[in-house]
Amino acid sequence: MSTEIKRITHLVGGSYWTGVAERTSKVYNPATGAVTGELDLASAATVDEVVKVAHEASRGWAQTSLSKRTQVLFAFRELVSQRREQIAALITAEHGKVLSDAVGEVTRGLEVIEFACGIPHLLKGGYSEGVSTKVDVYSIRQPLGVSAVISPFNFPAMVPMWFVPIAVACGNSVVIKPSEKDPSAANAMAELWKEAGLPDGVVNVVHGDKEAVDRLLEHPDIKSVSFVGSTPIAKYVYETGTKNGKRVQALGGAKNHMVVLPDADLDLAADAAVNAGFGSAGERCMAISALVAVEPIADELVGKIKERMATLRTGDGTRGCDMGPLVTGEHRDKVAGYVAAGVDAGAELVVDGRDGEFDGGDDGFWLGPTLFDKVTPEMSIYTDEIFGPVLSVVRLPSYDAALDLVNSNPYGNGTAIFTNDGGAARRFQNEVEVGMVGINVPIPVPMAYYSFGGWKNSLFGDSHAHGTEGVHFFTRGKVVTSRWLDPSHGGLNLGFPTHD
Ligand code: NAD
Repeated sequence: MSTEIKRITHLVGGSYWTGVAERTSKVYNPATGAVTGELDLASAATVDEVVKVAHEASRGWAQTSLSKRTQVLFAFRELVSQRREQIAALITAEHGKVLSDAVGEVTRGLEVIEFACGIPHLLKGGYSEGVSTKVDVYSIRQPLGVSAVISPFNFPAMVPMWFVPIAVACGNSVVIKPSEKDPSAANAMAELWKEAGLPDGVVNVVHGDKEAVDRLLEHPDIKSVSFVGSTPIAKYVYETGTKNGKRVQALGGAKNHMVVLPDADLDLAADAAVNAGFGSAGERCMAISALVAVEPIADELVGKIKERMATLRTGDGTRGCDMGPLVTGEHRDKVAGYVAAGVDAGAELVVDGRDGEFDGGDDGFWLGPTLFDKVTPEMSIYTDEIFGPVLSVVRLPSYDAALDLVNSNPYGNGTAIFTNDGGAARRFQNEVEVGMVGINVPIPVPMAYYSFGGWKNSLFGDSHAHGTEGVHFFTRGKVVTSRWLDPSHGGLNLGFPTHD
């Protein structure tokens, strides 16, 4: 069966780019392995074109009243809500995650738009009357100009929405550089901004790879960079962007631990481990990939997880399965390589996802849920971010040993503890060196009104995504000291009649 291959290109100033790209890349449907799209990759010159349009649009948008900006945000919120299913279908077709997950992703993004609808309140400054005789001081926050948003493949709609609605609400224009693997959702969202009444050029999408990213990092009119992706690239983006004088928030990779104490509800913990380990095929920065079982519960917990894994159906995301394929054939092979490395290193392979049956195309990028037990901290399945459906159980003797393991890991994105002991949970939340903590909750999901971000190698910069930190990131502060002399009360005599 032949599949129609669509051209996917940049969206600049409210219209699709009509130029001819020097380089393109292929977009796949991971459930069939078929090429479905040919993506234009921007050269540095094309990035310059897009930034110029964004820069020109930013001037007018920055002067647009808060009430008008808010109207556009409310209209955008309605449109995204109405088209949730269509956007989700685009995500499933290029990323592979099951439709319910894709809808969930759009819903999380919607929450950030709703948060940004409150921008008139969020941008209120401070005012001190009479700091000196007839002198008042007040603060305002102003937009930066053009913001770049560079996003990863695993949340092609939600991650851009962590930043774009807030940047726009704050009066900036935006250039989004989505992942080359699943670029269509970003275009669909940009079309909705236009339909919502946003002036052309305020939100633009430029597709590309390192060449496009490098140009964004050095372009003088890009004032801020919000990056989400793997740790080596996050570090590179942070170092290069800041060297070029930009403010940068660069969210990186993860290795999230779930600690299960002996007094935990093991059924709850097993359900959580399966959902957080294998949801979205483990391609989540908040996925649990290391399960730390504090003895003596490991045998029982592993048994319960294995039982639940037998009920999971892996297949095409449009067919009501629990788990979809991996994003590309290359990534599937890399993850399968980790499974082989785990076996070679002596870990116990309890469930082998390479053997599974898959409800999808023969050439889909399949790997079923995989469970290792008796994993030790020097094995590559423990040290590396695998970003696939591979869960490793590490057995440890005590809470202190578990805490040491989590804290000595170079990543610090998310972690969870399962226990019925409030004191132990409270101690963990205080002692653990990780940015987001779940207590009897496996994945602390991003809440729009709290800021999202990890510690250590999971975030470079000092600003987390969305929430009030987002508003702060996309604006700069100005403090005004003003003195208005009042001629009627002993000020300068400017010739006004006096009343006393
Ligand atoms: P990636 O680092 O390969 O790509 C991210 C972005 O960087 C893409 O837009 C890509 O085009 C660009 N890029 C890739 N190589 C580049 C290079 N050499 N120079 C400049 N730009 C480059 O990440 P990915 O595979 O798309 O996404 C998965 C990663 O993202 C995982 O590590 C995951 O943990 C991480 N992630 C983190 C969070 C978080 O909140 N911390 C959220 C989602 C994903």
